[in-house]
Amino acid sequence: MGPVKIYLDSNATTQVHPRIIEAMMPYFSDRWHNPSSGYGAGREVRQAIEIAREQVASLIGAKPGEIVFTGCGTESNSTVIKSLAREIGRKHSKVVCSSIEHSAVLRPVEAMAAVGFEVETVGVHEDGRVDLAQFGAAIDPGCPGFASVMWANNETGVIQPMGELCRLAKEAGWFVHTDAIQAVGKIPVRVDEVPVDFLSLSGHKFHAPKGVGALFIRKGSPFEPMIRGGGQESGRRSGTENVPYIVGLGVAAAIMQEEMAGGGLKRVASLRDRLETGLSERLDRVQCNGSREHRTGNVTHLSFGGCAATELLPALDAVGVECSAGSACMTGKGKPSHVQKAMGFSDEHAFSSLRLSLSIFTTEAEIDEAVERIVEVVKRVRA
Ligand code: PLP
Repeated sequence: MGPVKIYLDSNATTQVHPRIIEAMMPYFSDRWHNPSSGYGAGREVRQAIEIAREQVASLIGAKPGEIVFTGCGTESNSTVIKSLAREIGRKHSKVVCSSIEHSAVLRPVEAMAAVGFEVETVGVHEDGRVDLAQFGAAIDPGCPGFASVMWANNETGVIQPMGELCRLAKEAGWFVHTDAIQAVGKIPVRVDEVPVDFLSLSGHKFHAPKGVGALFIRKGSPFEPMIRGGGQESGRRSGTENVPYIVGLGVAAAIMQEEMAGGGLKRVASLRDRLETGLSERLDRVQCNGSREHRTGNVTHLSFGGCAATELLPALDAVGVECSAGSACMTGKGKPSHVQKAMGFSDEHAFSSLRLSLSIFTTEAEIDEAVERIVEVVKRVRA
């Protein structure tokens, strides 16, 4: 048996909350019926889905009818992008996204470029926030288009100026999609305050299981389903619903709302600050990357001068600290992350960076122990 594990990779995924497991269980056993069945048992299962829809809608300030359940965040992103591509048409149209999007936006947008759509990728400042002047210049009021910009970044946690981005895009009559997968459940994300047309979220980033997501489609927005069939989800996403996971996502949304109201997320942010302070006080050449003011409370992205993440990660794993260099999807790709390159980091700086991300389950004792272990590993690697 090795040292007790300390999980600091909550932006990769989170542990399923025991309350969520408990809420899901009946839908694997007694309540296994098809929600489209007309008899009582089917209707009860249908009701559970509708409760989950209300819970998700409530978390983001949407109306229940504007929520569509999907198989994951990636599906939500791809569905919107394909649907909007069809809406704006290939000729004399334009798509704008940021250079720090997750691959779940970049790849579908690249696929659009490959079939002849005009695509422009807008850069970010050193602090990881989208360059608003560049964004404004990229939006062309003379043609139909859409912009897709993430609400918060998965590597740095940096929060984008969504209100301002929407204003610029909407003035030109464009649609706005946001990948809010790293924002929902971590910061207040309200579609009744920020006029995005489409928003993607994913359950496993806030304690629901992997393999369930949702898509917010503002009432009246044009939408073309990606999966057609039996007409479930009001025809917007066919396929018999994954009832236990949808129930789990609903309870996750309710739990995160409680956490927000009860100060749970503030506690996470203060633990994150404790981790940063502990490391910066005990080690030299530690640099915090990205805006400190505009970021989610659960993550810190730190560079440790003189260390390569490729050496740090296995050494940290050996002492039981689970974290990552960039996104989990990039692990092992041997390239500096596109996010850090977009922020203007040198390869050396990018390669020396770690992402440490917490959740509501992280404890103060774990943070103090993580500081001890990381300090010891960094000193050893530097030596
Ligand atoms: N977008 C962002 C910003 C993410 O962080 C992730 C997950 O890492 C995804 C999309 C993909 O979500 P899912 O794993 O639910 O497909």
